[in-house]
Amino acid sequence: MDNLLQRKLRLGIAACQFGSKVRYNGKGIDLSQHLGRDRGQFIWTPVCPEIMSGMGVPRASIKLSGGNGFDFWNGKANIKNKDGENKNDMIKKGAIACFETLERADIDAYIFMEGSPSCGVYRTSLKNQRLGNPPGVFGALLLEKGVFLISSIDLQSPIRWWDWKRRLVAFVWIKEQNIDSKEILKDIWDKVKYVLYELHEEEAQALRDRIREVLSSTEFISDETYSALKISILNLLRKPAKLDNIKKCLWANYLELKQRENIEVKDIFEPHTLRNMTHIAQELLGIEIEARKKNILFRSSPINYKPDR
Ligand code: SF4
Repeated sequence: MDNLLQRKLRLGIAACQFGSKVRYNGKGIDLSQHLGRDRGQFIWTPVCPEIMSGMGVPRASIKLSGGNGFDFWNGKANIKNKDGENKNDMIKKGAIACFETLERADIDAYIFMEGSPSCGVYRTSLKNQRLGNPPGVFGALLLEKGVFLISSIDLQSPIRWWDWKRRLVAFVWIKEQNIDSKEILKDIWDKVKYVLYELHEEEAQALRDRIREVLSSTEFISDETYSALKISILNLLRKPAKLDNIKKCLWANYLELKQRENIEVKDIFEPHTLRNMTHIAQELLGIEIEARKKNILFRSSPINYKPDR
């Protein structure tokens, strides 16, 4: 099985983070510009639930009261604007319209704006470091539907974006595999296990033990068992890596490539060497490019993303 993803990935994004001036105060910013050439590797679908609600620009800011976005959908929380008007019905319709758009676009992931009562996932307020009532109304919908979620703030950081991209590519590649035999399960696990150890060592080890049990079993393995293992692998890929782990594994996986494949890349530093995050991202990209050229597996970024034009 090739560790190759050729389909162009489709990303939904909060419209105000893609350059549309749709925030309540008429502001918007294009964070996708930070991706440089990577921007062209994706098909983008910007949406704004507050615009689709019909509230327009500019509008009075809104806030969640009485609970979070999940409570809102259960009828236990409200959205009110600054003037005290109840906007539940409008926000509900706007969120559903956007979600249906993203479904039609068949997105692989959604880039959300943190801090909004509509789109926020881990914060619904930007004031004084307060968290508000997370998730927001649209954020709750996206979480409930199991969408792969990326914070727009991370588009500004080369290392964070590198981490998101390698995990998303592996996530989609695995999602599209039909795991129905031990051979396929083993093949997939052998390709992605190093990334999983890097992301969450303990959880990955527990998963490794479950997979080993299945691989060594003489009993019939049901589709449900394969499917549960696949979901566990996918869930581990959703969570961002710690920067220290990225650095440590970069070095270890580079040394492994050097010994196994004789690959040499300039300016790769040991983990304790001080350098900024942009440099670390360049190191990772440098190794990735060399590994891709020779069609060999780089453990930190195991699936090769070569989208068709
Ligand atoms: S955060 Fe969401 S609702 Fe608010 S302007 Fe951006 S896209 Fe629209």
